Amino acid sequence: MDKTTLKQRLLQLKETFQDQEETLTELDRAIGDGDHGVNMRRGFEALEEKIDDNSVASILKSTGMTLMSNIGGASGPLYGFSFVKMAQVAQEDEINHDQLTQLLAAFSEAVAQRGKVELNEKTMYDVIERARQAVENHESVTLEVLQNFANETKDMVATKGRAAYFKEDSKGHVDPGAQSSVYILNALIGED
Ligand code: ADP
Ligand code: MG
Repeated sequence: MDKTTLKQRLLQLKETFQDQEETLTELDRAIGDGDHGVNMRRGFEALEEKIDDNSVASILKSTGMTLMSNIGGASGPLYGFSFVKMAQVAQEDEINHDQLTQLLAAFSEAVAQRGKVELNEKTMYDVIERARQAVENHESVTLEVLQNFANETKDMVATKGRAAYFKEDSKGHVDPGAQSSVYILNALIGED
């Protein structure tokens, strides 16, 4: 993937999050405060004006800064910081398999570090880290594969973020951040 395609794929997330706003709102209503849909839509609506398409690094960095200042909630700083961290490891303007693996490692590490989160705590991290592993292992990571990773959070009990207040009652719902990260990873990985 080159920088032009990356830019297009990130800007297309505006439509994706407009279309999925209601889904994310519903998920966050069940185990949170219902703001995840509007948070994600606002973040990606702001991107069109703010994206700096000079290089892959500048695209990722400007996306991170925009998400940080426009998303709010717990997910804003997590996604924002992650894109800034990915920008720091972006070396070339052509994202080959090695570079993608490095970008996803930076994404996963950033969320783990900032969110103090591990696998199976029912967060976005479950999708991000499993996607990273799959890409590293040269597995095909389609939208369907990503969706399956998100669906696995349904049976988990949340131990991080607002959903943790629901304890056992958080079971039976897909985590909203896991769902939004399906779309973000699909844009970055670029198979669908
Ligand atoms: P808020 O919880 O502040 O309302 P959002 O609704 O926008 O923020 O985002 C909620 C999502 O953020 C959760 O579904 C979860 O995936 C993610 N999240 C929350 N806390 C953490 C954490 N400590 N580590 C990783 N992800 C987290
Ligand atoms: Mg919320």
